[in-house]
Amino acid sequence: MHKHHSALGLAARSTARTVAGLDIAKRKPVDPVTLVRPHAAARAARFFVEKFPGRSMYAVKANPSPDLLRVLWDNGITHYDTASIAEVRLVKATLPGATCCFMHPVKSVEAIGEAYFVHGVRTFSLDSLEELAKIVAATTQDDGSPATDLTLCVRMRVSSEYAQLSLGAKFGVGVEESRELLIATRQVADALGICFHVGSQTMSPDAYSNAMERVRAAIVGAAVTVDVIDVGGGFPSAYPGMTPPPLERFFETIHRAFESLPVSYSAELWAEPGRALSAEYASVVVRVERRRGAELFINDGAYGTLFDAAHIGWTYPVQLLRQPDSEARDMDFSFWGPTCDDLDHMKGPFPLPADTRAGDYFEIGMLGAYGSAMRTGFNGFGTGDTVIATDEPMLSVYGEDRDVAAGRTGNVVKL
Ligand SMILES: *Cc1c(COP(=O)(O)O)cnc(C)c1O
Repeated sequence: MHKHHSALGLAARSTARTVAGLDIAKRKPVDPVTLVRPHAAARAARFFVEKFPGRSMYAVKANPSPDLLRVLWDNGITHYDTASIAEVRLVKATLPGATCCFMHPVKSVEAIGEAYFVHGVRTFSLDSLEELAKIVAATTQDDGSPATDLTLCVRMRVSSEYAQLSLGAKFGVGVEESRELLIATRQVADALGICFHVGSQTMSPDAYSNAMERVRAAIVGAAVTVDVIDVGGGFPSAYPGMTPPPLERFFETIHRAFESLPVSYSAELWAEPGRALSAEYASVVVRVERRRGAELFINDGAYGTLFDAAHIGWTYPVQLLRQPDSEARDMDFSFWGPTCDDLDHMKGPFPLPADTRAGDYFEIGMLGAYGSAMRTGFNGFGTGDTVIATDEPMLSVYGEDRDVAAGRTGNVVKL
């Protein structure tokens, strides 16, 4: 049985993992193989459906795989946060019964019109009077009668200070400017919402309570009735060196902050998790094509699933798949991807056994969110096969055995 020697102390290793991984190593695939774990996505969906004190809609951009969409649907996720007309079409084609909410604050008139008239989308976000005018125009009937069934969510700008990835600069209105927009939106909306995004991989629940204070100020300032409070995404997953507090603590903080708003008696609470519902769904098995000291040339990279590893230095758990198991101690490696581009570099550090060599395969975990979704065909390097794995993801923020897993390795994953 494979034993992992990583100082990162990954979650429980299982015989199933070794078998799945080594089977791939035996078949010697030339292209990177995506391992998907439907049971992990199902568990994440059920967790949000059962424990988040409101409605959870999946942010499709994190991973638009139709197979994943079906797993989430089967486990109770009925609403989908879509940000482009292509995402709306994909969700409706995959899950005809699903409800799409179009939560990009800057849309084309054509996209709004198709979403409303063809796909039955009724919920849109906005952060300007121009966008409000576009939505009104694009949803007006041919006979000139305006839509009377719109749920319109005003996107507020909030701090990204607790997030690993800021979403604070591009969209959203400040509290001051929100007054005019909230009042104007209230006049045309059947239901008025306020939404925000605290940034992705948010490591503290305080991010949400701080954002809710801005929401409170906006509601009081505009003196409008609000029907929806949408706390957006940002819920964290587990990565090496990034062990977030339990998701329950985020949910409790959000619930308390929501309950204290002046509209809580009549408003609905929504969230838009992307990363948290998809991160544990997929990993990738790569092959070492060359070793140069502490640098490994592998067959996936910045233009494949490792965009964040290359561009923002994100690290992911790694595990060598070799039989018999390596006896060598771990050392830190960096990776070069397969393209001819110097940018195709992942500095890591990624700890693997010191005798890792060309021809070895290893698994890179936690690539279900913003990993698989980022793959391009640049320079002729694309995707290989997708294989279903039944073992546990390399790290997890869910699951009954998460404490056991932490106890077994005595490190990280203490959630
Ligand atoms: C990206 C995005 C999400 C998902 O964010 P995560 O950090 O992946 O949970 C949710 N809502 C909006 C509007 C987004 O842009």
